[in-house]
Amino acid sequence: MKKPLFLFASFLLFVLITVNAQQKMKHQDTEFYTPVPPVVTPGKSCGDAPSDAIILFDGTNQDKWVLTKDTTKPADWIINDGILTVNKKVGSIQTRQAFMDYQIHLEWREPIDIEGKDQERGNSGLFLASTGKGDDGYELQILDNYNNPTYTNGQAGSIYKQNAPLVNPNRPPGEWQTYDVIWTAPRFNKDSSLKSPARVIAFFNGILVQNIFELKGPTVYVGIPTYKHSVQGPYPIKLQAHGDTSKPISFRNIWVRPL
Ligand code: MG
Repeated sequence: MKKPLFLFASFLLFVLITVNAQQKMKHQDTEFYTPVPPVVTPGKSCGDAPSDAIILFDGTNQDKWVLTKDTTKPADWIINDGILTVNKKVGSIQTRQAFMDYQIHLEWREPIDIEGKDQERGNSGLFLASTGKGDDGYELQILDNYNNPTYTNGQAGSIYKQNAPLVNPNRPPGEWQTYDVIWTAPRFNKDSSLKSPARVIAFFNGILVQNIFELKGPTVYVGIPTYKHSVQGPYPIKLQAHGDTSKPISFRNIWVRPL
């Protein structure tokens, strides 16, 4: 048989075998019954913790948190009427527990009489992994950007100085706002080279602002982010007490689901 003819015959045979195999399949062949996804009871309304969540703040205490500058000391922010407010005197706080990949829900509110501008207006941050005693880690920015221009990759919903949010869904100061985030921690090889970067999906007031963004490294104020010298987690989650002089922001209803 000549070569082109042979190739055509082989191709035809392959197609016939494939079509035949498809025709022989039953609908059951592509239906799987294990593993069974666990039953989870959702909250009564969107944002309420589901039954399998770890509650990080339920309005009564900050037992799940410690001070970032000295993790042997309990968090000492202000709790009033079920609301947790930043205490700038003691600095940032972070979870006692460390996490790798997770889903988190958090609600935050700028003071209704917030003052200041640019980055100096209700600045805080959700550090998806806190890697050190200061502002080290991977920050999803919190800021009042209802009517407050700043650099786009530093506004609320940005991965700080790496990626601007897709849209600006800020509510006015005084109203509660939500973050719902899926965090995939970076992975490193044994020689500490990067295996896979951190990834973020973030919803801000229910609206997608980060769509599987791959981080370039920990978020930094000055310089180019890089994973060089980074160490694989798990790490705590941190809430930032920013050094601006504007009034402190508040939080409520914080829960996490490790993945
Ligand atoms: Mg910040």
